[in-house]
Amino acid sequence: MKTKFDVAVIGAGAAGMMCAAEAGKRGKSVLLIDHYHKLGEKIRISGGGRCNFTNIHTRPETFLSNNPHFCRSALARYTPQDFIKLIDQHGIKWHEKTLGQLFCDDSAVLIINMLKTECDRAKVETHMSCVVNSVSREKDGFSVKTAHGDFSAAALVIATGGLAVPKIGATPFGYKIAEQFGLKIVPPRAALVPLSFDPEALAQYGDLSGLSLDAEVSCHNGSFREALLLTHRGLSGPAILQVSSYWQNGSAKEPIHINVLPDPAVVDWLTEQRSSRLQFNNLLSERLPRRFAQQWCEAHRLTLPAIQLSDKAFAGALADLQDWQVKPSGTLGYNKAEVTLGGVDTHALSSKTMQANDVPGMYFIGEVVDVTGHLGGFNFQWAWSSGFAAGQAI
Ligand SMILES: Cc1cc2nc3c(=O)[nH]c(=O)nc-3n(C[C@H](O)[C@H](O)[C@H](O)COP(=O)(O)OP(=O)(O)OC[C@H]3O[C@@H](n4cnc5c(N)ncnc54)[C@H](O)[C@@H]3O)c2cc1C
Repeated sequence: MKTKFDVAVIGAGAAGMMCAAEAGKRGKSVLLIDHYHKLGEKIRISGGGRCNFTNIHTRPETFLSNNPHFCRSALARYTPQDFIKLIDQHGIKWHEKTLGQLFCDDSAVLIINMLKTECDRAKVETHMSCVVNSVSREKDGFSVKTAHGDFSAAALVIATGGLAVPKIGATPFGYKIAEQFGLKIVPPRAALVPLSFDPEALAQYGDLSGLSLDAEVSCHNGSFREALLLTHRGLSGPAILQVSSYWQNGSAKEPIHINVLPDPAVVDWLTEQRSSRLQFNNLLSERLPRRFAQQWCEAHRLTLPAIQLSDKAFAGALADLQDWQVKPSGTLGYNKAEVTLGGVDTHALSSKTMQANDVPGMYFIGEVVDVTGHLGGFNFQWAWSSGFAAGQAI
């Protein structure tokens, strides 16, 4: 068994496979290690099994980070078009679903197979179900002690992702290695995650589970108009997942702001119904799902016909519908999250190469880094772009 490599990549997910293949194509001998038994398992379960592999509207503003400009260079050097070119070369059929989100026509497994083929062509040596016991610095590189033996490599790439969905292999390994080598961690937090109602809101809205609304949901400087889904535990759907990344789950317990009348024409129409003899909830039902209108009006004690409401109450109701403030009691946590916010502090990394400034030869790529995309294919694009940057630089 070969034990000395130019590059060892820990984490055979999206970023790790991309990086291993790129470094291998450049003639480097590459070892790719993962403790899980399956390659790229998150790719397989992504996008409802069809993998939303990129977004054609990728730009630095579609990512959150303490260092918002960090992602710029890698995203510019490996773009959504570059990844589309790669999957076209492999004959993988795809389509745009909505909002620039590109999905496979068939299975996400095709993307895993493609990355595996790329790694095989680049002669990457892959060890799955391989637990890493320790990593240490050597005179001219790194020593990686594993359940499959001890390896050494001139360069070490950490591509172990974030904490979302631990049952398919997520661990804090990357953060621990970063800390071992003196890099700072931006505290990790579950993101793109459903939010839970407090007991009062759950009593009011819990039985609307399954109901979906077109809404504009905002928190801090994040605002998203997409579907909102009521669940038996709280709120979900794309608009909520998006805003969950902006919601500060601190002691202040900030509200999120939900506009259930995001279409101005609907607001105008309701305003014109000021003298309607319909119960206000029945009036709302003309434009919103009936069950929601009913529960919302009950919770807001709006039980009169529109014409009998005072001007203040009528205007107030319309204003509240455009700014329904909900204080989530929490998130559903890493088991239900798609990604992890925070991670290895980018101030310690080169934005061109992903190399740690103070640890020559050590690279961090993908979700383990404090760069988190919006929902819609941006997180995979970051994995491809950062993986490519390191793969080219090593
Ligand atoms: C349900 C779900 C759906 C998603 N859908 C999409 C989508 O459609 N589009 C999108 O852009 N993003 C999506 N994401 C997010 C996306 O999957 C991740 O952002 C992306 O996979 C990150 O790539 P990565 O290579 O950094 O990490 P990962 O793909 O998570 O890979 C990390 C690898 O490291 C391995 N590892 C972890 N700890 C260790 C250890 N101690 N030792 C050895 N190996 C280790 C893991 O087993 C894993 O193989 C989804 C996420 C989830 C959970």
